[in-house]
Amino acid sequence: MTLHALTILGATGTIGVNTLDVVARHPDRFRVIALTGQNQIEKLAQQCRQFQARYAVVLDADKARALEALLAGSNTEVLVGMEALEYVSSLPEVDSVMAAIVGAAGLRPALAAARAGKRVLLANKETLVMAGRFFMQAVHDHHATLLPIDSEHNAVFQSMPAAYFERGSNRNPAAHGVRRVLLTASGGPFRTRELDTLKDITPEQAIAHPNWVMGKKISVDSATMMNKGLEVIEAHWLFNAPPEQIEVVIHPQSIVHSMVEYLDGSVLAQLSNPDMRTPIAHSLVYPERIEAGVNWLDLARIGTLTFEAPDLRRFPCLGLAYQALAAGGAAPAILNAANEEVVAAFLDKQIPYLAIPATLDAVLQRLAGQPAESLEDLMAADADARIAARELLALDHAHRA
Ligand code: NDP
Ligand code: MG
Repeated sequence: MTLHALTILGATGTIGVNTLDVVARHPDRFRVIALTGQNQIEKLAQQCRQFQARYAVVLDADKARALEALLAGSNTEVLVGMEALEYVSSLPEVDSVMAAIVGAAGLRPALAAARAGKRVLLANKETLVMAGRFFMQAVHDHHATLLPIDSEHNAVFQSMPAAYFERGSNRNPAAHGVRRVLLTASGGPFRTRELDTLKDITPEQAIAHPNWVMGKKISVDSATMMNKGLEVIEAHWLFNAPPEQIEVVIHPQSIVHSMVEYLDGSVLAQLSNPDMRTPIAHSLVYPERIEAGVNWLDLARIGTLTFEAPDLRRFPCLGLAYQALAAGGAAPAILNAANEEVVAAFLDKQIPYLAIPATLDAVLQRLAGQPAESLEDLMAADADARIAARELLALDHAHRA
């Protein structure tokens, strides 16, 4: 049995809380070294006390002072800022880093963990969407171990041949007999809604996911299926699969979490109840196995598993993600950053639901061909995409006023 020393980035979020739930079930297997959060200071303080964290990190000085007051008399040291997130992701005493910050903010600490050769438990898919080439290079160069937390990618990881992930393996799925990666998608809350009523969708309706409890941003992404689009790009980098070998199939019950199809016609899948503690527990102790607190799968009770092809008229964001992946370069980073802006504006009730795909399409067209030779280029593309999205949305407002 291996004892793991953990940093959990985004400990106060949905993935962070689920991670600590699994950790709490196995006190003999884990030590919590660092926990990080942003706004939920009281929750972070409570977590630090419960798990006796050595460090707590927040982004700004006011929050740090408030956290210090809450942690008075404890053994937790409070650190501040992006450098501190990178620091706790690369500490020598830490072997595993759960990267569960939401959005582009998660990139730098995840990269720091890869460069320090850690076991990187990657929930922050935005890291791969923005900077997949550089992140995968860092994992390779620094002998980091990359374990996907996203349920679909965790399912693919479990369904791929073990030899594919061995050091020195030819990371070409076709050379391992893989024909296609089949990502399942629930289809979200609007899978069967009348197309002409999509324009009336409210944030409350969009974040009410039928099967999963998640943060607000990823819940909206699930409703638009941008989440699946980002996951196609994520799968491309994780498994070195060309876009035409990655297919999305809608599976409303969210029991089959994804599949790998082999040349001989075999299709291997991972099944479980839709509970993120399963992929989290898998990655925390891989290649061992532990109980995750998840209900056992009762297939007889579930009865029916159904599958259907996604409709790109209903889910144009999925098509945009395939387009961005085909365009390559900075296009995925542009799509990702613009998406963060439009989703925030939608959640803030500043824009209607259908402005999400329309604005993303316009930003991708406006910024086509941006350079992507370095991480700095990608950061610049990210910043430009945010400006372009805000400009386009402001124009939209001006027209309507
Ligand atoms: P949440 O919004 O629930 O949590 C996000 C976490 O990141 C919180 O701890 C939050 O702190 C922190 N945070 C937010 N913004 C920043 C910032 N700018 N800098 C530093 N920390 C920040 O998100 P989820 O847990 O749902 O998702 C986390 C990641 O995992 C995302 O990338 C998502 O795509 C991915 N993922 C999530 C799944 C899920 O089921 N939830 C499934 C698959 C992937 P605080 O709350 O204290 O403000
Ligand atoms: Mg997923």
